[in-house]
Amino acid sequence: MHSDLSLQHDISLRPFNTFGIDARARHYVRVTSSEQLRLALADPALAALPRLVLGGGSNLLLTGDFDGLVLHIASTGKEVLAGDTQHVHVRAAAGENWHEFVQWTLAQGLGGLENLALIPGTVGAAPIQNIGAYGLETQDVFHSLTAFDPATGSEVTLDRAACRFAYRDSLFKQEDGRHLIVTSVTFALPRAWQPNLRYAELAAAVAEQGIAAPTARQVADTVIAVRRRKLPDPREIGNAGSFFKNPVVSAAQCAQLLERWPALVHHRQADGSEKLAAGWLIDQCGWKGRSLGAAGVYEKQALVLVNRGGATGEDVQRLARAIQDDVEARYGVRLEPEPVFV
Ligand SMILES: Cc1cc2nc3c(=O)[nH]c(=O)nc-3n(C[C@H](O)[C@H](O)[C@H](O)COP(=O)(O)OP(=O)(O)OC[C@H]3O[C@@H](n4cnc5c(N)ncnc54)[C@H](O)[C@@H]3O)c2cc1C
Repeated sequence: MHSDLSLQHDISLRPFNTFGIDARARHYVRVTSSEQLRLALADPALAALPRLVLGGGSNLLLTGDFDGLVLHIASTGKEVLAGDTQHVHVRAAAGENWHEFVQWTLAQGLGGLENLALIPGTVGAAPIQNIGAYGLETQDVFHSLTAFDPATGSEVTLDRAACRFAYRDSLFKQEDGRHLIVTSVTFALPRAWQPNLRYAELAAAVAEQGIAAPTARQVADTVIAVRRRKLPDPREIGNAGSFFKNPVVSAAQCAQLLERWPALVHHRQADGSEKLAAGWLIDQCGWKGRSLGAAGVYEKQALVLVNRGGATGEDVQRLARAIQDDVEARYGVRLEPEPVFV
């Protein structure tokens, strides 16, 4: 193996996942550049192992020890590119911390990413589930990305259409894209910036401060304050953010549910379907604040499952299944987990 790579064996992944699950990895390597990534996968012994590409570990549930190679993406670098008449392009390496990158764009005087402030994890993982919050998704500000294809040993550039973004979904979660390793992402930020206050709670939080025409910085600060109020800090209590996706149902199914439960929280989608608030469904089933063993449901937000101390991946899965079964029995809707199970 190449001397530039420091391969470690049988290590705990506890510091590398925000749930704080103490699973172990058979092999682990931290790669700080595309060149190191290429080198690691040019080694036939390493390339043959089952692989887990790891960013900030904030959207993972480790269900047990990982008997393969963990490739920890820690590449850095960010730059402002020329762009076009409408947009400034900014590019960052996959290993950059997402929130720090958002802050950096704001410091450059560039708005566009502020609604996604304080989401944990890395830039490289943002396109994987098309991260979204407060009325904005990655795809809305995405230009292109580069990814390493271990099958060919070369890098490819993919535009927005090629990434097949959807709600918490992309090419990289599908069979034909799962092997790709994102190495950098380029965003297209509007030259003529306007605040995006489509999300009612964000608009209300801005208005509450008496701000009529917020700057991008003020929107970011508001998003940060709202998130801090609602979500547990993984450094204090292990979690992976929202544990379930909001289920999307037909208008007819939503209408039927509303007949029985008029208070059902739902949001109409552009295609006429309805997105139900998974947190509301879970809360109505009485799960908020409850625990099963060392895994629990966060007191302030029923969509977030937490590690109350020493939880295993199996504990979290058991709790998740119990919630899924209850919600399905009552509302006929099966909740789908958002984190990736490893
Ligand atoms: C408190 C909290 C709040 C959150 N809030 C939100 C939110 O508002 N909206 C939202 O969408 N998400 C949210 N999340 C989930 C999470 O932060 C995002 O999904 C984030 O993008 C995950 O980044 P990561 O680097 O930690 O990815 P990881 O957890 O390390 O990996 C997640 C998946 O992406 C893959 N992956 C990671 N990096 C790469 C790469 N370079 N190339 C290819 N595949 C890769 C991994 O293999 C894995 O399948 C939240 C999580 C927490 C803990």
